Amino acid sequence: MGKLIHGIAEEGTIRLMAADTTEIVTEAVRRHATSPTASAALGRVLTGTLLLGSSLKAFDRLTVKIEAEGDIGGIVAEADPNGNVRGYVRNPAAHAPASADGKFDVSAVVGKGMFYVIRESGFEIGLHREPYVGSVPIVSGEIAEDFAYYLATSEQIPSAVLLGVLLQNSEPFVTAAGGVMIQMLPGANEHVITMIEDTISRAPHLTSIIREGATPEDLLKIALGEVGFDVLEEKETAFRCNCSMERAIRLISSLGEDEVRSMLEEDKGATLDCGFCNEYYRLGETDLEGILESLKQEED
Ligand code: ZN
Repeated sequence: MGKLIHGIAEEGTIRLMAADTTEIVTEAVRRHATSPTASAALGRVLTGTLLLGSSLKAFDRLTVKIEAEGDIGGIVAEADPNGNVRGYVRNPAAHAPASADGKFDVSAVVGKGMFYVIRESGFEIGLHREPYVGSVPIVSGEIAEDFAYYLATSEQIPSAVLLGVLLQNSEPFVTAAGGVMIQMLPGANEHVITMIEDTISRAPHLTSIIREGATPEDLLKIALGEVGFDVLEEKETAFRCNCSMERAIRLISSLGEDEVRSMLEEDKGATLDCGFCNEYYRLGETDLEGILESLKQEED
């Protein structure tokens, strides 16, 4: 199980989040069969979304959507208050050669485009309010810098964001993944901010210390150096989608009697593919007959 923590430093003027997302990214890569570059891009977005959503309240939902002009086309990730995150890339095969120092060239497959953050509340219980949507142009395409730019520009929160995915050539492909987000709220001490920036610039790669067994709390210790902090909350995390056979049946039912009848007669069934988790739902003739039966009962 992965772990997500959030905490505070300097009497609440600095907000901290950290997560080990190795299992989440492993599951995402397995489900979407992404190329190494697309895996790094998706893993970073899933991790950043989880960190940004660390203080979501019940019935909240946070979506990060990247509209990319590069080969990857787009990246979407969605986090809920229970530490679950799901996501996908439009083109899982998008790939670029690694840069000279062996790093994934994520910006080469992302290119220019837009970075959106959508905050919704009450959706699951039918109390859908107008979502809050913030957007900024993509400034780097390396993802962490884009999260930081979004926070500084759209939410006026100067932040340090570190996101990492470490891959190997054979299964399970993902050796380590995780991230740290440090948000400087109004009133944060300038001297302390400089100290943290300095510590981060000298810190080792996140993924190499996660691979050696570092916990999210250890990541914060490394990022903050001598600055003390308190952990407020800790939760288990997972790549988990809310699709199900039941939802697939509801979706097919909503198409109406005529449509369901033609699926039954022409295709002898229906297949639904969840974009978020790549799960297939196959409805056979008996399922479709059952749907038709209940649609008729609703009419009576
Ligand atoms: Zn799904």
